[in-house]
Amino acid sequence: MADGYQAPKGTYDLLPPDSPLALMVRTAMIAAARSGGYEYIETPVFEDTGLFARGVGESTDVVTKEMYTFDDRGGRSVTLRPEGTAPAVRSVIEHGLARGQLPVKLYYSGPFFRYERPQAGRYRHFWQVGAEAVGTEDPAVDAELIVLAADAYRTLGLTRVRLLLNSLGCRECRPAYRAALQDYLRGVELDPETRRRVEENPLRVLDDKRPHIQALLADAPLVTDHLCAACKAFHEEVRRLLTDTGVEFTDDPRLVRGLDYYTRTLFEFVHTGLGAQSAIGGGGRYDGLSELIGGPSLPGVGWALGVDRTVLAVRAENIAAPEHARVAVFAVPLGEDARRTAFLLITRLRRAGVSADLAYGQRGLKGAMKAADRSGAHYALIIGERDLATGVAQLKDLTTGDQEPVELDRLVATVKEKLQ
Ligand code: AMP
Repeated sequence: MADGYQAPKGTYDLLPPDSPLALMVRTAMIAAARSGGYEYIETPVFEDTGLFARGVGESTDVVTKEMYTFDDRGGRSVTLRPEGTAPAVRSVIEHGLARGQLPVKLYYSGPFFRYERPQAGRYRHFWQVGAEAVGTEDPAVDAELIVLAADAYRTLGLTRVRLLLNSLGCRECRPAYRAALQDYLRGVELDPETRRRVEENPLRVLDDKRPHIQALLADAPLVTDHLCAACKAFHEEVRRLLTDTGVEFTDDPRLVRGLDYYTRTLFEFVHTGLGAQSAIGGGGRYDGLSELIGGPSLPGVGWALGVDRTVLAVRAENIAAPEHARVAVFAVPLGEDARRTAFLLITRLRRAGVSADLAYGQRGLKGAMKAADRSGAHYALIIGERDLATGVAQLKDLTTGDQEPVELDRLVATVKEKLQ
């Protein structure tokens, strides 16, 4: 398409026949959240830029390099949401939801935006299903969320999912770890950019995937060796509950994630059949986030599961979406009067809960029957002038080829009986 438009760089169109797979993935994730009593929330696709700058962290890649930020016509700086936790917590604070029963359990499903370098599994517009539990410090909620996510992947039929688990400590013990890591990193040879990161946000260096940095990190201090007694006990309880429920995990004391607000529990689900972008979901506890964005002290924990990458994982494991015909009945009218009758009949069928379509446009019998076949319908409803004169239509079973006349008045009841 030399002169036409294409989907913007880093985005893609989700089209049939692939779209049912994405719907299947979203549905499984949403079902998992709902099974735990999480309720649906929708927040705007854009927010005040400050919410993310403060909530996600000024020195994170997401904030410094990846946000779609612009001034609206009123001169306000707004940002297309790069993640869903800060907006969810903003909404909980704004509407006083935490004044009721705690925890407030919410889930969301929608598009997110990050100006990243596009590659397989990494897009500038992507879809997440997220769940957040706000207002409690109970480690059972951390475990609950992890189990629900693991169950979502399991119900999709995925078998090559690994769960990585870590604790990042709290405001009591993290500073000492941060200082120990900084000390260590100041003693190794690093490029200027990484050295700057050591000063600003040393934990992020642990996430540097470059092999020579990973090699330098071999002897770096581990966060799990610096946890205070309370964080240690909390983490042990999460591990124990996961073990009790049979959810396997790997302790990964080097696991960090791209958002600054995490405290204590941190986890990531990776799929072993994907390339570099193997993280299909993750989350953690964010006890300081509410205060960071101007709210009261309000602990919380949550996850965001990546729909696009989970679809890639489902494909990598050759899992198909359940077969599902586009419509149940496809009407094939022959002649003008028959078209009007057919239109009325498919409307009646739809209103009775039977999906139906019609061969639109002036097509001969052959072309119309081909369209019926392509639609995947169980039945073709063929209506000729002679049928009309006698008040019947021909109902053809497209799998067996059997055909029988059905009285027009009895059509809806007959089709419903047959489809049962
Ligand atoms: P995060 O919000 O960074 O914790 O990401 C949660 C999940 O969203 C990741 O595990 C990915 O599956 C997915 N995700 C994040 N960024 C992208 C992206 N740019 N493209 C596709 N999926 C993404």
